[in-house]
Amino acid sequence: MSRPISALLLLSLLAAAPAHAEWVSRTVDGIMGTRIFVELWSDDRAKGEAAIDAVMDEMRHIDETMSTYKPTSEVSRVNALAAKQAVPISPELFKLLGTALEYSRITEGAFDITYASVGYMYDFRERKRPSEEQIQAALPAISYRHVLLDPKTHSVRFSQPGVRIDLGGIAKGYSVDCGIEILQARGYKHALVNAGGDSRVIGDRFGRPWVVGIRHPDHPDQVITRIPLVDAAFSTSGDYERYFDEDGVRYHHIIDPHTGHSASKVRSATVIAPTATRTDGLSKTAFVLGPDEAMRIYNQLDDVDAVLVTPDGRILYSKGLQPGSAPPVPPVPPTAPAEPTAH
Ligand code: ADP
Ligand code: MG
Repeated sequence: MSRPISALLLLSLLAAAPAHAEWVSRTVDGIMGTRIFVELWSDDRAKGEAAIDAVMDEMRHIDETMSTYKPTSEVSRVNALAAKQAVPISPELFKLLGTALEYSRITEGAFDITYASVGYMYDFRERKRPSEEQIQAALPAISYRHVLLDPKTHSVRFSQPGVRIDLGGIAKGYSVDCGIEILQARGYKHALVNAGGDSRVIGDRFGRPWVVGIRHPDHPDQVITRIPLVDAAFSTSGDYERYFDEDGVRYHHIIDPHTGHSASKVRSATVIAPTATRTDGLSKTAFVLGPDEAMRIYNQLDDVDAVLVTPDGRILYSKGLQPGSAPPVPPVPPTAPAEPTAH
């Protein structure tokens, strides 16, 4: 009887101690207008590469569906038609629109996908911005309350002419969550998915947390603080990502839905929570509402933490990151920051 038992034991030992486990990673530029990075710990390189392929395919699919830069996307079709008629949409887009509206309510209107009713007139690369008259004319079209979802017909309609939506403030976080779900379904226990300012990790890096470096708003190479993360998501929004300066004013890509102007009450906001849809949906809030109001909202949400950098250079931490309540932050080494560094 001893032979089968020892054979079984050997098999289970082999399963527990794979011979060639290693980190497998890839960076791809140009999906959702940003850089995607995936890293996972795999005991089979080919399977690890195939899992990364699947994540990248999912991100391309979300880009095809959600991008306002692609005239053929579902969101572009909604923008062209929904002020005139109810537009039936895919279950995926229907659900994400519902989630976006929920974040508008949570953030008291700071997060609002109809910002695009004015926002579409900005082009930060071309240093283009709307005139004050153009902003005032389009401003009444900004309000998440204009987006009407009908669960019976799975359709969306805009209650006003001139309404446009843009999911640039939540689709990357959502795509990171979709990528993470693909990796979890394939059994990966240590992984990172990053899309622009939005990231999420599975597990840790072998007994040590993943470490997020938050960059200085004016100095890309300077890390102003570091946060250890295990099984969590984080998003950083900054006024230094897409912007131009004109006559001492910075025009950047986070828009105050109440004014149609760039929202400048903080320089950067990093939000930490269980999912990247959540962190993405919350990271714009502090720019619009300011640090005090935003911290009030973040501190009311049990699963959310935040780090804000104010215009005068102060670094503010939410309740859960105050000394005594935060997990210990590893000392800052003098060398370059470890992956991932928030943008
Ligand atoms: P990233 O694109 O790197 O993930 P953010 O998460 O900060 O950066 O998202 C910025 C994007 O959010 C903008 O480019 C725009 O598409 C969108 N956006 C801007 N203002 C708002 C707003 N008030 N509410 C929702 N989305 C917004
Ligand atoms: Mg984002």
